[in-house]
Amino acid sequence: KYEIVFIGRSNVGKSTIMRELIGAKVKVGRRPGVTQKPNYYQFGDLLITDMPGYGYMKGVDRAKQERVKDLIVKYFEDNASRIICAVQVVDAKAFAEIVDRWDGRGEIPIDIELNDFLYDLDLDVIVAVNKMDKIHPSAWDEFLDGICDRLHMLPPWNQWIDKVAPIVAKKGDVNVLGKLLRERLRKAG
Ligand code: GDP
Repeated sequence: KYEIVFIGRSNVGKSTIMRELIGAKVKVGRRPGVTQKPNYYQFGDLLITDMPGYGYMKGVDRAKQERVKDLIVKYFEDNASRIICAVQVVDAKAFAEIVDRWDGRGEIPIDIELNDFLYDLDLDVIVAVNKMDKIHPSAWDEFLDGICDRLHMLPPWNQWIDKVAPIVAKKGDVNVLGKLLRERLRKAG
């Protein structure tokens, strides 16, 4: 039995991606912060898990944000043995901004903390960079380099094409991610 787990800040488009990838009746644009439990999709031997969105949301206090993070951490610790990869979804345009804002306050951004945690667990992490339509094509490389840099992946980003998937889920353009996931599944047998 294998598992792929999706994580991401709320509103990054995680539900949209999952709907495009697995065609499931994943609810899109639901009120952020409502889902506090993982959603599961079972396909034969493969379990696909959608973790609650983390990070700041309107009307959700700090304590609750921490609980979501703890839930995610504990979930990976408990189920690491069957998890073949984690997909961390980030917002192409907002990611660097958010990370730098937290850094500026001397805090560790949740995205970085979780990414480091998954790395320490020895988990294979794919970073799905969504909403690339918000970036002018001439600036794609610059933005993707900036994201890699902040996630401790030495730029240029195209050294990491097996780990970084630029996508536009809203337009159904998730093939790059789909291809990486199919590769992982093939390797897992
Ligand atoms: P979730 O909270 O991460 O599950 O995010 P949703 O899938 O509910 O999407 C949040 C919002 O982002 C919705 O308004 C989506 O239409 C929008 N969105 C999703 N994917 C994209 C994308 O590729 N580009 C843009 N511009 N917006 C997107």
